Amino acid sequence: MMQWSKRTQSSWIQLAGHQGNVRLSEGGEVLKRFCEVEDICLQALMSDALCQFVPHYFGHISQDGEKYIRLEDLLSGLKNPVIMDCKMGVRTYQEAEIIKARINPSVRTDMYQKMVKVDPAAPTDEEHEQKGITKLRYLQWRDNSSSTSSLGFRIEGIVVGNGKVLRDFYKTCTEAQVTETLLSFTRRQIHILEAYESRLQALYETLKQSSFFNKHEIIGSSLLFVHDRNNKANIWMIDFGKTIPVPEDVQLSHDVPWVEGNREDGYLIGLTSLISLVREAIKQ
Ligand code: ATP
Ligand code: MG
Ligand code: MG
Repeated sequence: MMQWSKRTQSSWIQLAGHQGNVRLSEGGEVLKRFCEVEDICLQALMSDALCQFVPHYFGHISQDGEKYIRLEDLLSGLKNPVIMDCKMGVRTYQEAEIIKARINPSVRTDMYQKMVKVDPAAPTDEEHEQKGITKLRYLQWRDNSSSTSSLGFRIEGIVVGNGKVLRDFYKTCTEAQVTETLLSFTRRQIHILEAYESRLQALYETLKQSSFFNKHEIIGSSLLFVHDRNNKANIWMIDFGKTIPVPEDVQLSHDVPWVEGNREDGYLIGLTSLISLVREAIKQ
């Protein structure tokens, strides 16, 4: 369940996936609940070509019996930051999750309720009758009903300058709808859109040279777009909790469709769509 909160004592805003997972420390670092998969990725990324696109990683810390990953605060120094979280890739679940879901095809009422909340017309008659759906059905519906499967990314949420949170982007699926959202997110400021475009382009070039990118399947990771009223605009790669290395014999291209077993994430499909949609927004 997406939870959003704003720390009023500073300008720090959190678009947290799971409540309590991410917070700001007294010393101004971002603390994220420890996850070994993510920790290993961040360590590797610090010495990869991509390090300029990732918040600085300071190792981990234990506090009140809980372990956290310590990260640079990407909102530090920004005045009333406006931020957007775009979840990248043509799918947001790992292949292992489908296998697990198939082994245990139990009918889930919690997932049915989540589905109905977004789109009451989504369940079939049978699903309505049993008030439940399988996890596999839920995972696939979530990606197919958003722009994930078609454009290779989806907007998870936006926080505008006054701290107002917008998160109803499930129906933002078409290219025209995303372009419209980019225009309102940037309030049609061309220089902000141009700064985003060149950052995305630089990311594209760097990904091609990155050995980390070459060897990892990147699932559920986001690009965090951040700008403020002083016209600082930047984009960062965050959230590596489902990013895993592929076996030696698997060569990922990141820009071909996913077929179960090929491990492809479609990261570059999403990035290419984003670049062309930002360009489209600049033209309008
Ligand atoms: P989910 O997997 O559900 O997307 P998560 O628990 O893995 O969520 P993240 O996606 O890593 O958490 O982070 C949640 C939010 O916290 C981001 O959308 C962003 O708003 C904020 N955030 C995360 N890391 C940073 C950072 N280094 N600096 C500033 N904000 C951050
Ligand atoms: Mg996330
Ligand atoms: Mg995550």
